Amino acid sequence: MTTMIDRLAIIGVGLIGGSLARALREAGAVGSVVGIGRSRANLEDALSLGICDEITQDVLEGVQGAGMVFISVPVCSIPAVVAEIAPALAPGCIVTDGGSVKTAIVRECEALMPAGCHFVGGHPIAGTEHSGAASSFATLYRGKRCILTPTEHTDPAALETVDRIWRLTGAEVCSMEPGHHDRIFAEISHLPHVVAYALVHAVGTADVEGENVLSYTAGGFRDFTRIASSDPAMWRDIALMNRGALLASIDGFSASLDELRRRIDSGDQAGLTEFFTTAKQFRDGIV
Ligand code: NAP
Repeated sequence: MTTMIDRLAIIGVGLIGGSLARALREAGAVGSVVGIGRSRANLEDALSLGICDEITQDVLEGVQGAGMVFISVPVCSIPAVVAEIAPALAPGCIVTDGGSVKTAIVRECEALMPAGCHFVGGHPIAGTEHSGAASSFATLYRGKRCILTPTEHTDPAALETVDRIWRLTGAEVCSMEPGHHDRIFAEISHLPHVVAYALVHAVGTADVEGENVLSYTAGGFRDFTRIASSDPAMWRDIALMNRGALLASIDGFSASLDELRRRIDSGDQAGLTEFFTTAKQFRDGIV
């Protein structure tokens, strides 16, 4: 295929940024990829794994001449990174991101764009609990959704380009308003992560006659808590940046847990069966 982006800059060559670079290289959609990051060791991994053609820790040098800049650092750092690179962007450059929270990022990054450059918010719905360039792989996005969050300020041509690059990774692309995105992902992603962290924290600090109860865990506990192995700094940022929507989701969950507790406490057999049956039906309905 003809190259869509002559020079792609990836800021934060970890699981998400590294996987995008790998997929676009495989698709022949990019001329060259420059990887930008803080630690030399991760960038050296990205270079030796063939994810990038060039690496640099100098973000201003890295974005020079780039037709597209993809930012995949923890969400709270994204606006600061955009503020830093804005003066160095080439005319016509498209800046896009993979952050898991959208309202604050889109609002702040749109306002930071110099004239002639365009910001498009994005969030690929794919991931693992692993981090860093070495954990990235080209097929991460295949068959997965990628959500773009345009606003009334979004340039239609830039949106079309970002849509096309995600389709080239094998992702199914859809668009929604940033606030709607954040309320949905508070429920289906951010709440499960904080619940998993809370559960492992509670069980890990439980004192049952001095026993380390975690040594007895089996498949169910491990399946349910896999996501509590995710990077703490990334999830701290997501929780804080989507605070309003996440607190509403936590309140809904607390009400559900309180109701379950009440039914257990009162020995309400029929109520418990009804509660578990309804939840099972929801779970079985997930395709
Ligand atoms: P990751 O594997 O830890 O990669 C992030 C990379 O960013 C690291 O290589 C880190 O390298 C670099 N970095 C951190 N702060 C930086 C900064 N200020 N400037 C430049 N580089 C910086 O994390 P990830 O899983 O790819 O997540 C990246 C983004 O994708 C986050 O915004 C997250 O919300 C989003 N996301 C994640 C998932 C998921 O399941 N993991 C799914 C969808 C979206 P150094 O340590 O060397 O700086």
